[in-house]
Amino acid sequence: MADVPVALIHVTDVRRITPRMARITFAGDGLDAFPTWPDQQLKLLFPRPGQSAPRLPDVPADGDAMRWYQAFCALPEDERPWMRSYTVRSYDPDRQRLTVDFVLHGGFVLHGGAEAEATTGPATRWAATAAVGDTLARYGPAADYARPLPLGTADWLLFAGDETALPAIGSLVEALPPGTRALACIEVANPAEEQRFTTAADLTVRWVHRDGGAAGPGDALPAAVRALPFPSGSVFAWLAGEAGTVRTLRRHLVEERGVDKRQIDFAGYWRRRLTQDDAPTAEDLAEARERIEAAPTAQQ
Ligand SMILES: Cc1cc2nc3c(=O)[nH]c(=O)nc-3n(C[C@H](O)[C@H](O)[C@H](O)COP(=O)(O)OP(=O)(O)OC[C@H]3O[C@@H](n4cnc5c(N)ncnc54)[C@H](O)[C@@H]3O)c2cc1C
Repeated sequence: MADVPVALIHVTDVRRITPRMARITFAGDGLDAFPTWPDQQLKLLFPRPGQSAPRLPDVPADGDAMRWYQAFCALPEDERPWMRSYTVRSYDPDRQRLTVDFVLHGGFVLHGGAEAEATTGPATRWAATAAVGDTLARYGPAADYARPLPLGTADWLLFAGDETALPAIGSLVEALPPGTRALACIEVANPAEEQRFTTAADLTVRWVHRDGGAAGPGDALPAAVRALPFPSGSVFAWLAGEAGTVRTLRRHLVEERGVDKRQIDFAGYWRRRLTQDDAPTAEDLAEARERIEAAPTAQQ
């Protein structure tokens, strides 16, 4: 059995759960022994125009993941699949299905116009028109990328993010033990984008709507978190969303709320004006280093 966690997956169901969120379910090889932890990220590989399935290099006989990735990078650019990061929203071990929620950013709204379409990307274009039978590939998930919450190290949990973080926040809060105190502050376009979570935790959700003022996704969140009255006691914070917004939130928590850096798990999920193919900026690299240094000490 190869160690390279790459496989084709096929769409079995597509639903538009809100105007800007497509919930897509997949079947495929390897979903019988799929690792299940909340906030489970994986890479999805999207076919290029004219391809019915993403082109993948063969898995080396020795299962060397690095050599597979080198072969992937060596594919001609116009044939190499686009690779994007997503979160497993849910996994059904009985039916061997995994479900991913795709934010339809840019011009792809259910009844909307196309004026912002140029700012969208290939993953979103694919998700906006996906149909049963369509084929992608997945790379992962891998246990190395699990971000377990260090439960028990703080009196309460703070989740803050934009809609790209909704699948992760949903999977995390739904797995919280009964009675865990948690506050989630989530930015979405408008009330139609809100979701409901089923959880045993003592969860309060504050929705932040950017329609009616904020310049773009992620812009409304920092002010909303700044204005939040925090519950008493120590906090562990989980932050994800637009990279600059996450940076601002983190600075606020550390400098203005006195939160210990080690009590913050953070990830920039996307970058304004940059695609996931664009190279990391100096800030991205510095944060990647900091993220490793500030990684939570305790494990769930
Ligand atoms: C660990 C991780 C988990 C993630 N999980 C999810 C998930 O479960 N669901 C999900 O929808 N996304 C998730 N994301 C975010 C997703 O990977 C990015 O939004 C990605 O850029 C989308 O790819 P694309 O091809 O549509 O756009 P790209 O080609 O990467 O970017 C094209 C343009 O779109 C802009 N852009 C990208 N994303 C957004 C956005 N959300 N809003 C506005 N503009 C945007 C970029 O700035 C760029 O200008 C996750 C990211 C990470 C790192």
